[in-house]
Amino acid sequence: MNELKIPLKVKEELDKVSRIAGYLWQREWAERNAGNISINLTSFFDKEEIQGANEYVPFDFPKETAGFVIFITGTGCYLRDLIDKIEEAACIIHINDDATGYSIIWGGRKEGFAPTCELISHVSIHLFNTKNNPSHLAILHTHPLELIVMSHHELFQNEEKLNFALWRMCPEIRVFVPKGVHCTPYALSSTEALAKVTIEAFKTRNISLWEKHGATATGEDIEKAWDYLDVANKAAKLLLMCWSAGFEPAGLSKEQLTELEQFT
Ligand SMILES: [Zn+2]
Repeated sequence: MNELKIPLKVKEELDKVSRIAGYLWQREWAERNAGNISINLTSFFDKEEIQGANEYVPFDFPKETAGFVIFITGTGCYLRDLIDKIEEAACIIHINDDATGYSIIWGGRKEGFAPTCELISHVSIHLFNTKNNPSHLAILHTHPLELIVMSHHELFQNEEKLNFALWRMCPEIRVFVPKGVHCTPYALSSTEALAKVTIEAFKTRNISLWEKHGATATGEDIEKAWDYLDVANKAAKLLLMCWSAGFEPAGLSKEQLTELEQFT
């Protein structure tokens, strides 16, 4: 394998991934091989340095992703291993010039390693962000407990009502998840169908809440992607706590929520 020396700026992004992986494990959001992470690193690399001697694994990428450089976690890998064995549980890939294959240019040091089976979803979302939301370079898919619980509730069938129920739990949720949560209908993991519904979600919302499965968010870096999920999950947790205690929350009023819009 043609191992690349990674730029300092990339190392900083990888250190953030290790830190967030610790949070995911502590919060019980990343059991076994649950979840996956990717970062679009294309702008961090010098093209000349990457091209050349690499061998490419055939893969049918969207044509416009030719030349992309992506950090991505491995299939079957445990996200908790990102804390101290990131080069075994993840890799950096380079997509070739006609988008027909990828080469692992860093990491993936575990026997039989391959990028996550959600590779097509991640690359498709990166392409979408390049065009529509270019500052968002990181994608985090994980299993936040209380948000998943809410995806089993009847509120999940009415996106507007679900977002109102979450936003009114406390001011920071309205401010830091300003576009809210998308109720993304169930689709089988690692399919193009799932990639499609997730991109649909990001056209209008900050978070794609996958029915009876988990949630996905994008952010400027992995920490910002985490923040969306952390704040939204807090709302779900507060709501469930009120219900567990046997009362309906009073909730912020519509006027109070409107007043908060100036901070979004
Ligand atoms: Zn999942």
